[in-house]
This record gives sequence, structure tokens and C-alpha cells, in this order.
Amino acid sequence: MSDLAHAFERVRARISSASARAHRDPADVALVAVSKTHPCARIREAHALGQRVFGENYVQELMQKADELADLPGLRLHFIGHLQRNKAREVARVAHCVETLDSLRLADELAKRVDAQGRTLDVLIQVNVAAEEGKSGCALDQLSELIAHTRALTPLKLEGLMLIPPHDEDPEQTRPHFKRLHALATEHGLTHRSMGMSHDLHVAVEEGATMVRVGSALFGAR
Ligand SMILES: *Cc1c(COP(=O)(O)O)cnc(C)c1O
Repeated sequence: MSDLAHAFERVRARISSASARAHRDPADVALVAVSKTHPCARIREAHALGQRVFGENYVQELMQKADELADLPGLRLHFIGHLQRNKAREVARVAHCVETLDSLRLADELAKRVDAQGRTLDVLIQVNVAAEEGKSGCALDQLSELIAHTRALTPLKLEGLMLIPPHDEDPEQTRPHFKRLHALATEHGLTHRSMGMSHDLHVAVEEGATMVRVGSALFGAR
């Protein structure tokens, strides 16, 4: 078995055991393989192992990869980086999901661009749950308005919420933020909670993650 196949097995096993602890079905946790900075050849290798959903942070890299990988059946690209409005048109052309919607103006711009392409786009709202100064993500006191606004924009399909917590080596320190995102999604009747990365995905799954974004545990260090 290849190193990459082993890495996928290990991550899947972590998702399964965390799901079991939380009495959840592991099939309810989607794995977004974060392929940023890794070459297309690695994505092809992962695709051959059955992986279909990949996460990218940088617009230019997303565009290049979308172009180079256009032949891969069922490929889904999630944009997970900070998105500036002047890049919305490009991203709207190739992404299947934008996980980092965080403002009314960006929602309007994305809706306009997606509509012009005759497409629809799944979106998640990134929430600044920890109220970190100067960080991207929708502020808690603006979340209800952004949810209502996004729901009214028909080219966008609001699927859930996304969290990038303050970095902490100890996943237990992040657990309260995972709990909060889960509660917010429930409160607003949203299905998806995108939370958990390589070092803390097990805790995120225990707290209700339906998407985990995993880079280094699959593809190695960047
Ligand atoms: C890079 C990145 C990840 C993956 O991080 P790893 O620690 O490599 O698993 C997940 N989410 C976002 C938003 C990222 O930028």
C-alpha cells in the first residue's frame, strides 16, 4: 500500500473512532483533503484512491489546479482561504463550495458572479467564534443577518458554518469553539459544520463536525 493510502486509512480510522465515541455515523463526516501547495500529481493519486473533495486556499493555485485537473471525474473543489471580492469572479467559475463567506458584500458579489455563469454555488459562512481581533470570519453579532441575506440569494446554497479556531497545540482548548459552532448551526437550522484539521479532527468530530479539512495528516508537511 502507498504512503498516501496509509495516510487516508489512518485519518479515516480517527474519524471512525471519534464518531463511535460520539455515537455518530462516520458516513456523516465528509473528508475535505486540503491539497494547498501540493502538486496536481498528488491530487490525482488521492483521486485514484477514491477521494473526491479537495480544499485550496489560494485563488491562483485553485485556478491552475482546476484547469489541470478538469479531466478528473467527480472532482469537487472547496475554496477555504480568505476571499477578496475582486477574486470572487474567478472562484465562482471553478469552485463547488466556498467555505469562507464572511460578509454581505462578498455574498452579493459571489451571487452575481455565479448567476452570470449560470451555476449555483454551495457556501458555508466562516464564523469568528472566538471573536479574534483582526481575523476573518463573520462576527457573532452579524451572523443572523448574514444567514438571512445569503438564504435570499438563490444562486448561493447556504449549507452550513465553518470555523478556523485560534491555533492551539492542545485540541482540548479548541473543544469549546467546536461546541459553539455546532450550537450555532443547530440554532439556525444549518446542516454542515466544517471544523477540525489534522491535529484536532477527532475532537471536532466528537463535537459534531460534518466536514473535516485535513492537509498535513494526508499529504505530509507543507
Ligand atoms: C491549511 C488548512 C487546513 C489544513 O490544515 P492541516 O493542519 O494541514 O490539516 C484546514 N483548514 C484551513 C482553512 C487551512 O488553511
